[in-house]
Amino acid sequence: MSVLVLLEQRGDLKNCALEAATVASKIAKKAGMELNAVFIGKSLDDQADLLKGFGISKLFVYENEQLTHYSSDGYVPIVRELANELGAKVIIGSASALGKEFCASVAGRLGVELVQEAIGLDWDNGLVAKKPVYAGKVISDVRITSEPAMVSVRPNVVVVERDGDTAPELVKREMPQLDLRTVIKDVAEAAVGTVELTEAKIVCSGGRGLGEGENFKVIQALCDVLGAALGSSRAAVDAGWIHHSHQVGQTGKVVSPDLYVACGISGAIQHQAGMRTSRIIVAINKDPEANIFKICDYGIVGDLFEVVPALTEEARKILAE
Ligand SMILES: Cc1cc2nc3c(=O)[nH]c(=O)nc-3n(C[C@H](O)[C@H](O)[C@H](O)COP(=O)(O)OP(=O)(O)OC[C@H]3O[C@@H](n4cnc5c(N)ncnc54)[C@H](O)[C@@H]3O)c2cc1C
Repeated sequence: MSVLVLLEQRGDLKNCALEAATVASKIAKKAGMELNAVFIGKSLDDQADLLKGFGISKLFVYENEQLTHYSSDGYVPIVRELANELGAKVIIGSASALGKEFCASVAGRLGVELVQEAIGLDWDNGLVAKKPVYAGKVISDVRITSEPAMVSVRPNVVVVERDGDTAPELVKREMPQLDLRTVIKDVAEAAVGTVELTEAKIVCSGGRGLGEGENFKVIQALCDVLGAALGSSRAAVDAGWIHHSHQVGQTGKVVSPDLYVACGISGAIQHQAGMRTSRIIVAINKDPEANIFKICDYGIVGDLFEVVPALTEEARKILAE
């Protein structure tokens, strides 16, 4: 009986992989099960050190050039075989954009239930996941009854914690015979220096209040200073001002950064669905009655074209000190 954690990488291990390991470690302890992990990629190199202190018993490593980038043909059969071999009772992955597809594909192949986007996990004679429903207005406790119980954990809702520095036993595995219909040769980043939205620690978003697409440069300037990812409301996407990949919300991406700055966004329930679990929410809106002020920690009633450049300048000065 064991817990298996899927470690996400893009060359380097992602922070969400360490978050998943943190959650998996607690569940394994509480359930009295062994914890194992699987890394699939080009090369783990010296990153095994990052996996010390989670109580991982065995770290299964599948290294191959063809496994550099995620593909369901390559990764899913490996996890399915390993989960069966280990008799995994619980499988935990990450709810990043890639992780959600990975977990869904594994669950599909294993024929088990999957809870995506859990914001907390507990063990009570079985796995219980905290899952936001109704656009984040309700947090439900979902008991997962299938075996293995499978869940993906929303990035940034867990603080990475280690207990000691015991290293896992490395178990290097040969590349299995796979029917790879597609091999991703290369991945081009959308733009140099951009930060992936779902994993960003800070997200600054713009909405219809920007008036036109050109004005996203005001928000981008704040992002550049803070090292933040650029988000948007759906209204801005629908207006053709920004690509859908930046959309935050029910039909966009779900983010849980330490800091979310909403500029010229009214705070519709569908937008909130994508950002209300952020740790600190700052809202800038000229309408004091805007819904966003009901869920924010700090609200600034004002014209974003005055407030955002002033904030950017202040942040630039403080961060330069
Ligand atoms: C099925 C469905 C799914 C949806 N999914 C999503 C989703 O994923 N994400 C999403 O965001 N929306 C989604 N929506 C749309 C959502 O209902 C809202 O229409 C949308 O979020 C509004 O975007 P907004 O806040 O930018 O625009 P508005 O609601 O028009 O708000 C603009 C705000 O800007 C303020 N403003 C104007 N000028 C300034 C200024 N100069 N300075 C400061 N403030 C200013 C205004 O006071 C106003 O509050 C969905 C809707 C449906 C029906």
